[in-house]
Amino acid sequence: MRARHSRHDAGFTLTELMIVVLILAILVSIAFATYNVADARARRAACLSNQRICEDAVLTYQLEHDGDLPAALADADPYIHGGGGHRFCAEDDTLDFVYDAATGHVSCTNHPRP
Ligand SMILES: [Zn+2]
Repeated sequence: MRARHSRHDAGFTLTELMIVVLILAILVSIAFATYNVADARARRAACLSNQRICEDAVLTYQLEHDGDLPAALADADPYIHGGGGHRFCAEDDTLDFVYDAATGHVSCTNHPRP
């Protein structure tokens, strides 16, 4: 003899399904927010690293040119491994670093150094 199924055994109700979808939506939104924060931190770290690479190239240029600083940051490109690919912000590759020819400091308007 076949047992009769109650309404609860037939599957999920619409309310239960909506609650599961809502919980999944909340978890996905939390995951995206966490990803965006981690992505911004990684781009900032890459930009600071690029600034340091450029300043090291400026120092190397200075050492090989009797203490003279390069007139432009591009003049230090030969001292950067692989050329001048590091002269840009890691977040926006159309944004050139700001170079102070008087001090040799390199900075980014998006990511100033602490
Ligand atoms: Zn930057």
